[in-house]
Amino acid sequence: MALVSTNPATGRVLESFETWSKETTAQVLDEVREAFLGWRATPIAARTEVLRAAASILKAEAQILGRIMAEEMGKPVKQGAGEAEKCALVCEYYADNAAAFLAPEPAEGGGLRAYLAFEPLGTILAVMPWNFPLWQVFRLASPCLAAGNAVVLKHASNVPRCALAIEDIFRRAGLPKNVFRTLMIGSRQVEAVIQHKSVAAVSLTGSAPAGASVAAAAGRALKPSLLELGGSDPFVVLADADFEAAAAAGSLARCLNAGQTCIAAKRFIVEDPVYEPFLELLAGKVRALKVGDPLDPSTDVGPLARPDLVEELQAQVDASLAAGARLVLGGKPLKGPGCFYPPTLLADVTPDMAVFREETFGPVAALIRARDAEHALALANDTEFGLGASIWTRDLARGEALARRMEAGSVFINGMVKSDPRLPFGGIKASGYGRELSYFGIRQFVNVKTVWVG
Ligand code: NAP
Repeated sequence: MALVSTNPATGRVLESFETWSKETTAQVLDEVREAFLGWRATPIAARTEVLRAAASILKAEAQILGRIMAEEMGKPVKQGAGEAEKCALVCEYYADNAAAFLAPEPAEGGGLRAYLAFEPLGTILAVMPWNFPLWQVFRLASPCLAAGNAVVLKHASNVPRCALAIEDIFRRAGLPKNVFRTLMIGSRQVEAVIQHKSVAAVSLTGSAPAGASVAAAAGRALKPSLLELGGSDPFVVLADADFEAAAAAGSLARCLNAGQTCIAAKRFIVEDPVYEPFLELLAGKVRALKVGDPLDPSTDVGPLARPDLVEELQAQVDASLAAGARLVLGGKPLKGPGCFYPPTLLADVTPDMAVFREETFGPVAALIRARDAEHALALANDTEFGLGASIWTRDLARGEALARRMEAGSVFINGMVKSDPRLPFGGIKASGYGRELSYFGIRQFVNVKTVWVG
């Protein structure tokens, strides 16, 4: 079996990598374990210096990294360069804050002579998706490494060049050999890695079925897991919203990365009196986006990452149209080579339709009519997912009151959902469990050790 890098804009194979055997993988895991023992004994100030050096490389090489992503998974180069710069931010954030986040804490209480220490667990397996091929890895790896863990990356099979580029950045940043390794393996080899005695825990970012499979394997091995899974985020527009701002943010929130984002706005739930005017505004914004070559700096929407993703998206659109949705824009893949799918708008979507019930991983916006704010909230929560949500209203108190009743890991009022190193990120329900980023992220994979002093 091979890991194949294919350019989704042209369909051309760029490079092919042989997958590792069971034996090679096991040997690398042993080497990583050995390296971990040295790394955990390294003072935290030296560990975080490596993250600072990685940040410098990421900033200096943002354009080159953007190009690698564009060629391998179709992200427009301007968005890819921005992603590399965001990876630098998360490295700097943990370089600045890890020592404080991990400082021993005195235990509270009359007469107690005890404290809590936060110690690394060992090797953390990172099973990662292709859609933010750098960001997903750095947001997990930087706190893990700062805490003294080692990391092994099993990246998505279609982004081996990105996977190797990340390993190379850490090497050049001065990370000791084998503290971070890219495993050149397919998903069928993941269970054996989880079972391996040197692996302490696993984090998966990806789809719900992959999450269920990895969590089950982790359960069998009695190892902790963190799951960052899919979403079907609601974007609720109330009658008193600033539509212009909502439509501008909505088109970006749906079409960034060609809609292949876990926290993309997927279901636009709009209060009845403003439904048609908002639809028109959103259609105007979406129509203005430039679809094309991801290497062209003026491109807004590149191709989807793989042909099977186009087929899956088309099936969801077709099923929803057959069930009564109204096609406003797009709706069919573009002709010619490459996996191009145009920004698409479906109106009059109802909860029984595929684009409401399932995660749509492409630039397809579903518009749903709500009778009032209460109905909008009920529709927003009527999903198996619980990742992000966004609410648009000029009445901030009402927005906050609704936000507190949303079933989601984060709610943004008058803003599109995004991740930020300073804010915890993660989901509930079928969107997963655990949190990345902020001090929550660095405490996910540590042993909270109670030390009692008699
Ligand atoms: P995916 O197909 O689930 O793959 C994710 C990773 O899991 C890949 O490395 C994949 O390897 C591996 N994998 C798949 N099935 C597996 C199994 N049974 N056992 C072990 N590993 C397995 O997801 P994707 O298509 O790459 O990414 C899109 C999904 O990720 C969407 O649902 C999106 O919402 C979600 N996502 C969530 C977040 C978040 O933070 N919550 C962020 C980004 C993306 P192979 O490539 O070798 O199959």
